[in-house]
Amino acid sequence: MIHYLFKTAHFFPTHAYETVDQIDFAALRLSGVKLLLIDLDNTLADYETLVPPRTQIDFFKALSAQGFQIIIVSNNGENRVRDYCDALDLPYIARAKKPFSTGFRKALNLIDAPVKVEEVCMIGDQLLTDVLGASRLAMKSVLVEPLRKKTERWYTRLNRNMERSVLKRMKRHDSKRFEALGLSRRLP
Ligand SMILES: [Mg+2]
Repeated sequence: MIHYLFKTAHFFPTHAYETVDQIDFAALRLSGVKLLLIDLDNTLADYETLVPPRTQIDFFKALSAQGFQIIIVSNNGENRVRDYCDALDLPYIARAKKPFSTGFRKALNLIDAPVKVEEVCMIGDQLLTDVLGASRLAMKSVLVEPLRKKTERWYTRLNRNMERSVLKRMKRHDSKRFEALGLSRRLP
């Protein structure tokens, strides 16, 4: 399978949290992060939630006020991503093709002031798209728990099956780091 083409180290996120609002954004800022790339499905909303709740709109306003630039980077289609991001008033890249570099590069082209890769952090729920894509470009990454597994699309479920085998490999590769990141909670 395709994931065997990549080094195990590329699947380790920089940080892992259960939800986006638990992320220590002040620490990310201190570590030099200026640009946040954020996944949409199962990271910010489940597939059935088409419009962000008021609390999430306020949450992103506060994050922007902290000085972060924010771009939503999603593999989902234009309509779904546009409707959600317009409500959040955030720029976005749809059909990003994570883990390939296409969408990440498009996102970097959206911002006025250039940033270095180490000043970029990708936040998402999938090791094989969000974390791997960021690592390959030497960007930081934060892994969060998927919001809801029940309604996942078939390709996401396929990714989850591959993810399980990657997780086992990661555990063998560096069990200390694996445990420190709390990744065992993703293994059933
Ligand atoms: Mg996702």
